[in-house]
Amino acid sequence: MHFWMLGVLFEPQYSYGRIVLTKFFISIFDDIYDSYSTLEESRLLTMAMERWDEQAAEHLPGYMKFFYSKVLATMKVIEKDLDSQGNKHADYVKKLLIDATKCYYNEAKWREESDTPVTVEEHLRFSVPSSCCMHVACLAFVVIGASGDTIEWGMTYPKIMRASCVIGRVINDVASHEREQE
Ligand SMILES: [Mg+2]
Repeated sequence: MHFWMLGVLFEPQYSYGRIVLTKFFISIFDDIYDSYSTLEESRLLTMAMERWDEQAAEHLPGYMKFFYSKVLATMKVIEKDLDSQGNKHADYVKKLLIDATKCYYNEAKWREESDTPVTVEEHLRFSVPSSCCMHVACLAFVVIGASGDTIEWGMTYPKIMRASCVIGRVINDVASHEREQE
């Protein structure tokens, strides 16, 4: 996770941003949805994320409980930090992470329920959002103090963002194809 985030915010002065981006747990979520959980377990995790409530952990399988409460606690610390720095957009941290889990879940559902996609476009409809490159980039916007307009703009997948997601997705798929087939 740190290595990926080093590519997003590489300038030395963005050390704090790299720490926050690394603590976003994005690759762990990706591995859960791609390789570890059943579809039903990932549905429960997605619902718990939407609830964003410590109590929601009781509906999760044992191995997810610790992770879930760690995620909530970590995001709380990040939000508090950003608040105390005078950052007005701390609430996007939660929003982006919830949306990321929905994208992962949609991809998992699509993978389990449908046949091999016929066109690249069909593949990208699900696999572009679940690259989560948009989520990471927009979180970087939040942490470096971009305006609300900029963050909202990023979240609409403008061309430059979509292109970055496509590249991230295809490179990721090429690298992990053999392992994920297992
Ligand atoms: Mg994935």
